Amino acid sequence: MTLRSSFGINFKPNNFFEVTTADLKQKLQSIDAKKAVILGENTNSIFNESVELDCVRYIDNELSVDGSTITAGASINWHELVKISINNNLYGLENLSHIPGSVGASPIQNIGAYGQDVSQVIKFVECLDLESLEIFQLTNSECNFSYRSSIFQSKKYLITKVSFELETTFKPNLNYKSLSEYVAKNSINISKENIIETIGRVRALRLPDIKVLPNCGSFFKNPIIDSDQNVDSKIDIIEISESFKKLSAASMIGHVKHKLMLQGGIELHKNHDLVLTNPKNASFNELLESIESIKNTVFNEFGIHLQTEPIIYK
Ligand SMILES: Cc1cc2nc3c(=O)[nH]c(=O)nc-3n(C[C@H](O)[C@H](O)[C@H](O)COP(=O)(O)OP(=O)(O)OC[C@H]3O[C@@H](n4cnc5c(N)ncnc54)[C@H](O)[C@@H]3O)c2cc1C
Repeated sequence: MTLRSSFGINFKPNNFFEVTTADLKQKLQSIDAKKAVILGENTNSIFNESVELDCVRYIDNELSVDGSTITAGASINWHELVKISINNNLYGLENLSHIPGSVGASPIQNIGAYGQDVSQVIKFVECLDLESLEIFQLTNSECNFSYRSSIFQSKKYLITKVSFELETTFKPNLNYKSLSEYVAKNSINISKENIIETIGRVRALRLPDIKVLPNCGSFFKNPIIDSDQNVDSKIDIIEISESFKKLSAASMIGHVKHKLMLQGGIELHKNHDLVLTNPKNASFNELLESIESIKNTVFNEFGIHLQTEPIIYK
């Protein structure tokens, strides 16, 4: 079975299983579950073409609404969930609309956009421990969420459901600069009816559509450093607090882009230096060489290490 990541690289796992609640434990017992990779919609993971792995996709499309809580199965599409929440007059996910991928992957890197992180509304995450095959729930604080990070990046847990505690009153969060500027410039009166469309338009100004141009969204995390560490004045600072500074990876890449040795036709997106695109079907190795070139060039120029946002399976 050949699978494809949204970056446009095909891969062929040793085995590929789709599992449901009914056959989950039985199927996982038949493989070395600890070594299996869980797949969502492959918009934030890139695999070597000849990866020697067993891959599992968990299918649960059940959804329940109980007061202000929505609990959603892992395989529900993320953007569909955002639409469902608004249709149920429940709010808090709007700024995360149009993020590609599945509900089950949303806690993994604590997806975020336009000043909102999913961790702000997660009530609990239900998971299956791939070592013991036991199912259990983690509360929000047990998930150790921080910027593009969670406990799930270091544990072998399969996420089966995610539960969200939402608001019953629509209070749009338009504080993020590019969003508020777009709303003001186009004189939009934001309502629950037009917020998803507005977010979609703002996203489309900077992010390519995966159906048209293979990509994984932002390719590098914005580095976080101690607040007392000095940085080159060419680097944009996104956020500053008493303890840390969040640096713009896009501004660093933008300053060195003429020095980069990108391979296989891989490009920086014309509207956003943080997005790598793959218009000419570059191979996995060409991607690895391109990543190294970006990381090394940024480090030589600014002394800052970049970390990839997508998970790369060599
Ligand atoms: C055009 C574009 C724009 C994007 N914009 C944003 C953005 O604004 N903000 C943002 O945060 N991200 C963004 N992303 C990244 C991506 O959409 C998210 O990371 C999304 O959550 C990935 O979902 P997925 O189902 O495709 O995950 P996958 O790529 O399939 O998996 C990602 C990781 O999660 C693990 N995983 C998946 N499902 C499960 C599960 N059920 N249990 C346990 N582990 C699991 C996988 O093993 C893998 O390690 C963007 C990506 C693209 C292509």
